[in-house]
Amino acid sequence: MTYQASDTRYQHMAYARCGKSGVLLPKVSLGMWHNFGEATPYERSREIALTAFDHGVVHFDLANNYGPIPGAAEERMGRLLRNDLLPYRDELFISTKAAYDMWPGPYGSWASRKHLMASLDQSLQRMGLEYVDLFYCHRYDPSTPLDETLQALVDIVRRGKALYIGISRWPLEPLRYAISYLAEHAVPMLIYQGRLNLLDRAPEQEGILAQLSSEHKGFISFSPLAQGLLTDRYLNGIPSDSRMAEGRFLRTDMLTPQLLDRIRQLNMLAQQRGQTLAQMALSWVLRHPEVTSVLVGASSKEQLVQNLQCLESAPFSDEELAAIG
Ligand code: NDP
Repeated sequence: MTYQASDTRYQHMAYARCGKSGVLLPKVSLGMWHNFGEATPYERSREIALTAFDHGVVHFDLANNYGPIPGAAEERMGRLLRNDLLPYRDELFISTKAAYDMWPGPYGSWASRKHLMASLDQSLQRMGLEYVDLFYCHRYDPSTPLDETLQALVDIVRRGKALYIGISRWPLEPLRYAISYLAEHAVPMLIYQGRLNLLDRAPEQEGILAQLSSEHKGFISFSPLAQGLLTDRYLNGIPSDSRMAEGRFLRTDMLTPQLLDRIRQLNMLAQQRGQTLAQMALSWVLRHPEVTSVLVGASSKEQLVQNLQCLESAPFSDEELAAIG
């Protein structure tokens, strides 16, 4: 059946400006790392993506290697666009990335000009797009001269293959250099993608958030639910259809008794606030003024809809913040 986007799709979502740029992003964005590869039935991926768009989630985040198999998520995005979403292309903000292992040989990984340029061309082909809205260097490459990586990013924008540039998971010093290099070359960095959640405060502790804030750049948090740990998923065992049961990126040995205690404590606090743990975890990330958006994953449309309600969250009191720790 021909997809017709909901008329009410912009009524409930809040949009935040990405630093001092012209770009507004939904406070909740959708990540396609999981649930968009060959292991997931197409209809389920479609339901999640279209539910997202119907709720004003206009930002979809991909990478060259998302799958399984690597490349499969972008191919699926291409199919979704062809079948349903292409009429809405100008309402969408699509990102992809390169720098993790993608194909064999010396050019299939890291951040040389050769890898970044070839990888983005492959991504565009898989998605059937002429350009992406945002292209990230997915990780810091200590062996490639920074100027080579950054000039490639500048040239990607100049060639019209991406509208904006982002940086993901780079340490503070090279990030500082990247921000100034890109500004000097009139292709300002738009946004940094890093992991900030109730269990991992690294971007705060390492000074990344403070740097971005002083430079007026955006920040988007990946894995804001710690891959599902910060939900009710693992409170009473490991469900057979969960990411942990799959055991690739979230292993059972990560769920130590101490961590489970902490999650149960957080769950009680969420209940006292009248929220699910997932909603409280997302509201907590979004309360940071430096954060533009949370990049959630979902294995069902029900999870996604539940998570979107974090936008209705009451502010945290000082007592609640102290209890969260
Ligand atoms: P989350 O931390 O949001 O975890 C998503 C998982 O949590 C879901 O797949 C689901 O797991 C579970 N979940 C979500 N909502 C609920 C709910 N309401 N109730 C119960 N369980 C729930 O994010 P991801 O780790 O998936 O990462 C999000 C995105 O961030 C990625 O898709 C990607 O775009 C980006 N990313 C970027 C990285 C980078 O290096 N730049 C690294 C990692 C991610 P289950 O499958 O068990 O149901």
